[in-house]
Amino acid sequence: MNIILLGCPGSGKGTQAEILCEKLQLLHVATGDIFREEIGKKTPLGLEVSNYLSSGRLVPDNLVMEVIKLKLNNETKGVLFDGFPRTVDQAEQLDNYFEQTGRRIEAVIFLNIIEQEVIQRMSSRRTCPKCGKIYNLITNPPKGLNVCDECQVELMLREDDKVGVIEKRLMVYKDLTEPLISYYKATNIFFEVDGKDSPDIVSDRIISFLKNKVLKDG
Ligand code: AMP
Repeated sequence: MNIILLGCPGSGKGTQAEILCEKLQLLHVATGDIFREEIGKKTPLGLEVSNYLSSGRLVPDNLVMEVIKLKLNNETKGVLFDGFPRTVDQAEQLDNYFEQTGRRIEAVIFLNIIEQEVIQRMSSRRTCPKCGKIYNLITNPPKGLNVCDECQVELMLREDDKVGVIEKRLMVYKDLTEPLISYYKATNIFFEVDGKDSPDIVSDRIISFLKNKVLKDG
């Protein structure tokens, strides 16, 4: 099964991706995580994309697609795309690539949430720089004061979760990513879920949709 998780920055895609990939044994392909890792390692790709991320702009479509192709091979069974596609052009490139390689997208899950909620969520989000675990100072705080429960390393506020950049990311989302909702809504693989509910409720809804879908599609 190949799934796309769609939603604005801060809608909970990362958290849902972790839960769903573990339960459904899917490969988690999160373009934002890939770029941050490359930036951390100072690779040529990292250097090329660094300014886009720190200013909240999107990395060019062709470069994103190259990265996606590198992540998939013949052995890849099921994939969950998190933060990809982000433009209609990327979605079309993915459709073409999947057609050529005999794959298909079985479900597009849209985490719907209002803007005010995401601004609050993102500015209180903290990440462990070592294991990548995501916390929220209000809804899911670490046990200790600003340190990861697992690694005991100090938690970080992502550069692009600072208020000015959040606003830019939301504008980019409205302009370039929101049109994807209509692109996929017209298909019978689209499922919308209320992203403001707790992570467990959201993931239960998604899993029951996927189970029904598999039953229906045989
Ligand atoms: P995310 O962690 O998904 O919020 O992504 C962080 C940043 O990485 C975005 O603000 C973009 O600069 C870049 N990025 C991630 N995924 C994509 C994508 N599919 N297309 C273009 N840029 C992306």
